Amino acid sequence: MLKIAIQKSGRLYEDSMKLLKECGIQLNNGNKQLKTVAENFPLEVFFLRDDDIPQYVFDSVADIGIVGENVLLEKNKDINLVHRLGFGKCRLSIAVPKNFKYKSSEDLQGLKIATSYAGILKKYLKKNKIDAEIHEISGSVEIAPGIGLADAICDLVSSGSTLFTNNLKEAEVILKSEAVLAANKNLSAEKKQLLEKLLMRINAVRTAKNNKYIILNAPNSQLKNIEAVLPGMKSPTVTPLATEGWSSVQSVVNENDFWEVIEKLKKFQAEGILVLPIEKMIV
Ligand code: ATP
Ligand code: ZN
Repeated sequence: MLKIAIQKSGRLYEDSMKLLKECGIQLNNGNKQLKTVAENFPLEVFFLRDDDIPQYVFDSVADIGIVGENVLLEKNKDINLVHRLGFGKCRLSIAVPKNFKYKSSEDLQGLKIATSYAGILKKYLKKNKIDAEIHEISGSVEIAPGIGLADAICDLVSSGSTLFTNNLKEAEVILKSEAVLAANKNLSAEKKQLLEKLLMRINAVRTAKNNKYIILNAPNSQLKNIEAVLPGMKSPTVTPLATEGWSSVQSVVNENDFWEVIEKLKKFQAEGILVLPIEKMIV
């Protein structure tokens, strides 16, 4: 049995549950309980505060855990980052009052900076040879400058709207973060095998999200050009249409070059282009 820790409630909860579900893992109980066992995979799920997850994974209370990279780095436990998961994206940034004439990190010299990320901030300041005072607080960091507790803050940002409403502006990004899968370093052979199985499924889900299935009609004279644009998994599937001189082409396109590919296909006289989401993709 593999034990996984996920956030009990908060920004990572929904996406963590969704990922397990997309991996075909059925959980009956929600986060009302402390833990639950999957019905069709040897997996036990623990619902915890995100801040506690690195410690529990380090102590082998859980074998693996889903946590923000920001928390993983701040807690600095000797555990492995096994996989980035692509959700919970945010940045850890230093922000200063809007009217502060900020030019470079030099301007942070001598300031008092409020943060819940003292460990990461300390490393950043040291690396950049900035002598600033760190004021560690556990929550509502963004109000610190407004109430005269600090000159600047170091906190998580996604849209920047919290900074804006508190009359602050982003000055330096010190870490780009997303949810990651972290694992204990001494997993048994059996647990390692289960982790591999889970990772295979996670990869299939993530690859599928980055790709689209595409079906189109094209004149046979253009097939060579179209095949070059649509390499697919091995090569595209080409079947003749009832209309003389035309074929149907099926393939897979990466999300990143999607529009570029569509433009080229149009140039090569592709018609009736259908694009479908892919649920799972095993390469
Ligand atoms: P807990 O009760 O589990 O301690 P929390 O209040 O510390 O929860 P959340 O606000 O739910 O944590 O954030 C969890 C994680 O979500 C963060 O550590 C970070 O990795 C990620 N995240 C993504 N966007 C943001 C954001 N705009 N602000 C804060 N965290 C974000
Ligand atoms: Zn937390």
